[in-house]
Amino acid sequence: MLRLHNSLARREEDFAPADGHTVRLYTCGPTVYNVVTIGNLRFFLAADLLCRYLRYLGWEVHQVMNLTDVDDKTIAGCQSEGVPLSEFTGRYAELFFQDLCTLNIAPAWKYPRATEHIPQMLALIQTLLDKGHAYVRDGSVYFDISSFPQYGRLSGVRPEEAADVREFGRLQEDEYEREAVADFVLWKAAKPGEPTWDSPWGPGRPGWHIECSAMSMQYLGETMDLHAGAVDLLFPHHENEIAQSEAATGQPFSRFWTHVEFLIVDGHKMSKSLGNYYTLGDLLAKGHRPMAVRHQLMTAHYRKQLNFTLDGLQQSESALDRLTTYVSRLPRLPLPEGESAQVGEILTRAHAKFREALDDDLNVPGALGVVFEVLAETNPLIEGGQFHTGDRDRVLDFLRDTDQVLGLLTVTLAEVAAPQTSDDDKIDALVAARTAARAARDWAKADQIRDELTEQGIILEDTAGGTVWRRA
Ligand SMILES: [Zn+2]
Repeated sequence: MLRLHNSLARREEDFAPADGHTVRLYTCGPTVYNVVTIGNLRFFLAADLLCRYLRYLGWEVHQVMNLTDVDDKTIAGCQSEGVPLSEFTGRYAELFFQDLCTLNIAPAWKYPRATEHIPQMLALIQTLLDKGHAYVRDGSVYFDISSFPQYGRLSGVRPEEAADVREFGRLQEDEYEREAVADFVLWKAAKPGEPTWDSPWGPGRPGWHIECSAMSMQYLGETMDLHAGAVDLLFPHHENEIAQSEAATGQPFSRFWTHVEFLIVDGHKMSKSLGNYYTLGDLLAKGHRPMAVRHQLMTAHYRKQLNFTLDGLQQSESALDRLTTYVSRLPRLPLPEGESAQVGEILTRAHAKFREALDDDLNVPGALGVVFEVLAETNPLIEGGQFHTGDRDRVLDFLRDTDQVLGLLTVTLAEVAAPQTSDDDKIDALVAARTAARAARDWAKADQIRDELTEQGIILEDTAGGTVWRRA
């Protein structure tokens, strides 16, 4: 049984979709005004691992991830460049999808854009006005938090205690501190030079929070199974999503809430102003492989801070090498026929531990550790000649199975599965020629063949059982 920490209940609870079949999941997506950082990507990867495991458990997943393509930041960005909002946000949306793809993050079910759901937002705001949860001031519409006594249930914010700092009574900004809790804006009256839409209250644009309520209910209904977000969105964004949605429908907005902790860099909170942040592109430019970055972003439990360092990333490079080398050489090992009971036991135990780790509030580092244990436990058997063709096949099945969740070996496993090509035969022949040259102590020839293979991107490894090769 999967247990997830539910931020709303402040404890771990058994999780299953309400209808027993499809998980309706909303994940707050990016504001498309810049290239996302690895801090942002940590959240999107955590959401990917969650979705992958939910699917692994046999459920369908309807994951909706919004793109915020109109808000204070996107408007400021397009204005400073002097380009239309859609051109500005379209560029960053494209780069965002590229990063997801590079990190092998599986696509969501839907990526609704805020600017394409203005009518749904207007309807939701109208409902809130009709039910007495909102009011109009100077062409803007605000949510009246005093009309919703449950306000603060998720974040623990208590508006009555913050009353002395509510000197403005209401807020135009989308983001603010919990000390500044006040009525928040649903619809912002037009300002000169800003993109606007018509509304019953005059021209303007939606507030940020209403976007998520309108788009989630559009695709997932009034009550979803699970809402995920980065921990910095818990207040005010998620608190306000709950208030708007539940005040409008009278139904619980989401059964579960999960929050992913921050990524910090070299022990410090990542901040653009301090310059201690990386984009995925920055790390690839340093020569790192995307799957090493993916691995590094998986090394801390999602509810713990992840301290990102370049040393840590280097360790991930080594870990990835161990993993891909192991997988790539498996099909090329000269192995005896049959299978051993010992490998069967290792895999049965590993499979149970893998499930156990992920069922325990999605302990991905634990699950990753199980895979590396299998490597550590089978390597001596391989070297000792106690590993058979059937063991190889079962280990590959285990890696294929677990990688549906981990997603580190998609390419490597596909290469292993590919049938032998004539290219492979040529390489086999060259490797055999090199082995013969070495046996004849013709080092010059052996080196020459190795160089030739290196040029073709082939890496050789001399083991006790003979030379094996793989593609770099
Ligand atoms: Zn949101």
